[in-house]
Amino acid sequence: SPRIGVLALQGDVREHLAALDAAGARAVAVRRAGELAAVDGLVLPGGESTTIGKLLVAFGLLEQLRERIGSGLPVYGSCAGMVLLADRVADAHGPLVGGMDVTVRRNAFGRQVDSFEEDLLAPGLGIVDAPLRAVYIRAPWAEEAGDGVEVLARVRSGPAAGRIVAARQGALLVTAFHPEISDDARVHRAFVDLVRAHA
Ligand code: GLN
Repeated sequence: SPRIGVLALQGDVREHLAALDAAGARAVAVRRAGELAAVDGLVLPGGESTTIGKLLVAFGLLEQLRERIGSGLPVYGSCAGMVLLADRVADAHGPLVGGMDVTVRRNAFGRQVDSFEEDLLAPGLGIVDAPLRAVYIRAPWAEEAGDGVEVLARVRSGPAAGRIVAARQGALLVTAFHPEISDDARVHRAFVDLVRAHA
């Protein structure tokens, strides 16, 4: 089974490690260059994207991560991780990893309402019959996506209806929601499949 890292500088690392294990990967925490070099895929967890971006610089991992993405490393970014993988952020932001041709807006679901939940189907993620409980916590959405980006899910209801909340471009996968806290390993399983396909 593939060895998949979770970037462990800040954010909900443990939940992703558990979800990856449940999805059949060998999950390892990644904090150092040697650890990053040894994984077949990587998860960028939810947390605070500006903090994680600064820590990537401080730990000397940003350039290495960009290089590995450039040579095809599969990476899954959830929430803050989705912000970090975007090529563009609507508001000012510190260092981004980049790689996905999308513009994201941070904390997009509104200042008053910090979280939002709904049931989603996303056939491109293997979520077909039983819906996934999508939990958005101060989550971003993508406002625009380039031609090379496959949109996998949009918000279904409410003021955010139609906004892009899951997408894939090559070996990069993003979700605005947090499947790792929904006790539902299907998105992680889809990522493990993506890692296997790119091995
Ligand atoms: N609002 C956070 C950010 O932009 C993301 C929140 C989360 O990951 N749950 O970094």
